[in-house]
Amino acid sequence: MTYVGGVPVRLLAERVGSTPFFAYDRAAIDARVGELRSALPADVHLSYAVKANPMPAVVQHFAQAVDALDVASGAEMRVALDTGIEPGAVSFAGPGKSVAELTSAVAAGVLVEIESPLEADRLVEAAERLGLRPRVAVRVNPDFEVKGSGMRMGGGAQQFGVDAEMVPMLLKTLHERDVEVAGFHVFSGSQNLHADILATAQERTVDLVLRLADDLPGEATYLNIGGGFGIPYYTQDQPLDVALVGSRLEALLASRVRPALPSAQVVIELGRYLIGEAGVYVTRVVDRKISRGKTFLIVDGGMHHQLAASGNFGQVIRRNYPISVVTASGPADVAEETVQVVGCLCTPLDLLGDKVSLPRAEVGDLVVVHQAGAYGLTASPTAFLSHPAPLEVLV
Ligand SMILES: *Cc1c(COP(=O)(O)O)cnc(C)c1O
Repeated sequence: MTYVGGVPVRLLAERVGSTPFFAYDRAAIDARVGELRSALPADVHLSYAVKANPMPAVVQHFAQAVDALDVASGAEMRVALDTGIEPGAVSFAGPGKSVAELTSAVAAGVLVEIESPLEADRLVEAAERLGLRPRVAVRVNPDFEVKGSGMRMGGGAQQFGVDAEMVPMLLKTLHERDVEVAGFHVFSGSQNLHADILATAQERTVDLVLRLADDLPGEATYLNIGGGFGIPYYTQDQPLDVALVGSRLEALLASRVRPALPSAQVVIELGRYLIGEAGVYVTRVVDRKISRGKTFLIVDGGMHHQLAASGNFGQVIRRNYPISVVTASGPADVAEETVQVVGCLCTPLDLLGDKVSLPRAEVGDLVVVHQAGAYGLTASPTAFLSHPAPLEVLV
C-alpha cells in the first residue's frame, strides 16, 4: 500500500479529484531534514535549492524547516520572499541573471552569487542606482572536478561561476566599489551517491575558499560549499552515507575552517536530497493492450509531467524509476506480470517503465511513480501535446 502523509493514495486520488497529480509528504520532508541535521555539524546552515521543487506550499514549508533558500530566477526569488523568510537568508545563483533580476535582488536585500565579471558590473550599477550596498558572494568554478555526479557543474570550462584563478582579479575590482563581498559559493555537481567523493570534494572546496578568502578585505562571513547529495533511483543504487559525510565535515570544520574563519557561516545547499524522496507522481491506467506478446499499460500521465522518469533528463542509460500499482481491490494478492508502462504522448520516448514487474493492473487502477519530488513537474515539457497540467498537493 502506498501512503502520502498517512493518506492511502487511492483515497488521496479521490480527494485531489483528478489524475495525474503530484503529491508531496510533509512528514517525509521533516524526517529528512531531521536526519540531515543530526548527521551534519550543528553550526552548518541548510539551504533549500528551490529549483528542485518550487511549489509555493513546499517552499513555504522549507522556509520554516531549514535556514535559507537558494533561488535561480527572479520568479523563484519572489516565491521565496513570499514565505516571509528574512531576505538576507535568500541566495540567488545562476548564470545569465538579467539586469531586472539583479535589481530586484538588490532592492530586496537578497545575497547575490556573482557568476561573471559582467554580472558583477551590472550588479554594482543596479546597486548604485538604488543607493544600496549589496551583499554578494562570488560563485567560484573550482580548479578541480568531482567524479561520480549525475550532472557536473564545476571544474574545467563552465558557464557556472568565475574560474578560481580569475577570482582575485574580480575581488580587486569589487573592492573599489561599495559592495560587501561576504564570501564564496562553490557548487560542483548534482546527484552524487558517493560519501567519500563528496567529503573529499568538500575538503578541496574548503582549501580553495580559504585560499581565496585571503584576498577579502575583511573576514569571510559566508562559505557556501555546495551539496550535490544524491538519492537512490534505481535498484542497484546504494543510499548516500550521510553520516560519513557529516563526520568528515565536522573534522574539516574543526581543523581548518573554525580556526581560520571563526565567524564564517558554512552553508550546504540541497534540492533533490531534501524533497526527491518525499514525492510521488500518480497516474491512472487508461488502456491495457497486448501488442505481439507485450502488455502495455497506458496511463493518463507521462514524460510531459515527469520527464526524468522517462530517462530523458540527462541520463546516459535509461533505467526504471521505482513504480507501484494501486488496484481497486487494494493490496490483494494479484499475480505479477511484466509490462511496459507508457504515457499518453505520441512518442516512443514516453516510457515510464520498461519490462517492469507489477501486480496485474486494470483500467482505472493507479500507477505510482516514486522518487518524484524533485525535478518533476517544472523540469518537464508540460506544453508538449497540450495536455492539461497536473495538480500538486502537499499532504
Ligand atoms: C541545482 C542547484 C542546486 C540543487 O542541486 P540538487 O542536486 O538538487 O541538490 C544547488 N545549488 C545550485 C547552485 C544549483 O544550481
